[in-house]
Formats: sequence, C-alpha cells, structure tokens
Amino acid sequence: MVRGALWLIQEVGEGNIFTKEQVRRAFPGVSQADRRIRDLRKYGWNILPSNSDVTLHADEQRFVKAGVPVWDNAARHAASPDKLPSAAEKQAVMEQADHMCVVCGISGGEAYADDSNQTAVLFVSRRPMLMPDGAEVTTLTVECRRCHAGRSSTYKIDVGDVIESIAMLELDDLRRLRRWMIRGRKEVSALDRVWSAYLRLPAAAQEAVRSAVEDS
Ligand SMILES: [Zn+2]
Repeated sequence: MVRGALWLIQEVGEGNIFTKEQVRRAFPGVSQADRRIRDLRKYGWNILPSNSDVTLHADEQRFVKAGVPVWDNAARHAASPDKLPSAAEKQAVMEQADHMCVVCGISGGEAYADDSNQTAVLFVSRRPMLMPDGAEVTTLTVECRRCHAGRSSTYKIDVGDVIESIAMLELDDLRRLRRWMIRGRKEVSALDRVWSAYLRLPAAAQEAVRSAVEDS
C-alpha cells in the first residue's frame, strides 16, 4: 500500500487518470496490486472508480487527492481502519455525543418509547464516512445496539446528505443550528441534563432518586 501511494503521487499525480494495466506494469508480480491501491481509500485517499466519474472509461480510475501519509508509520497506525479505539478515545466519543445514540437520540439506559421492556445499551462503533468531495474516511460514532443492528454493515455516513438536510431547514432552525455549531453543542436544558444523569445511575440509585422526588 505504501508503494502504491508513492506511485500515485510520483508517477500518476493528483487529478490524473490511471488504468489497471498501468498498475499491473508498475507492480509486476505483486498480487492484488489494484486492491492494495483501492485500500488507500480507507485512509482518506480520494480515488474515483470509473462508475462515479462519467469522463472515465471502464478500466480507468482517477487519483483525485492524497489522504493520510501512509508511508509515515505513526500516521498510518493512527488512521488504521482496523485499529481498535482506546478506552480514552471511546470515552471522548461518548462525551461528544452526550451519551446519546447518534441515530435515534436515545440515552444509555433509557427505555425505548415503543418497547419499555428494552433499555438502550450504547457503544462506540466504527463507520466509514463519505466526505462531500467523494473521499472516504473511517470515523468513530455512538450507536445503541438496536440502531447498530438495524444499520447494514456497509452503511456509510454521508456528509453530503447532512449538508443537503441543513439546506432544507427553516430560517429559525438554521439560526439555532448555527448557534449550536459555534458552541460545539446543543442547547441542553437543566431538565435534559438531570434526566441524562438520572439514566446513568444504577437501578438501585434510580429507585432512591425516584422515591426522594415522590416524597418532595
Ligand atoms: Zn439508537
């Protein structure tokens, strides 16, 4: 993969087209050289297949833009799609998501509205993410088990979709969204915060809180 990356940069050049035949000639005797080059997409390299660029012939691909410098061991390791996230990374992702599923918004430990016998278990999941320029990177995200099971394993987070949805917001909502973006978080009410803290308590502690509130 490192040799493929250097070949793209030095021999093909960003913005240019290359063919499967050129790959075969550049890496004689290397099995699946083409797949190794495709694997660079997992490191944020933007390599367009022929079916996503009408100007390309069937055997052509376009090297649009380089991504993570995979020849740098530290950079490659940090971006590796197979690397398991550390406990600290998972904690940071959970906190950024406010301990809520990014798909349905349920908090960890909360019962599902349509099934009160089932409470949400959150975990950090790795997902491919499609950037507006067509590049694909891997990201960590928080999902509840139910949403995770409901999403196919090939599901990609599509950043372009999010930008399109924002374009359809009413002006008031758009202003509110801009405020949240500047603050880096949603306006969370005192009630939301208390509810989320309550849900994170163990069952016995929730019981104690409930009776304290009932008595008050
Ligand atoms: Zn969910």
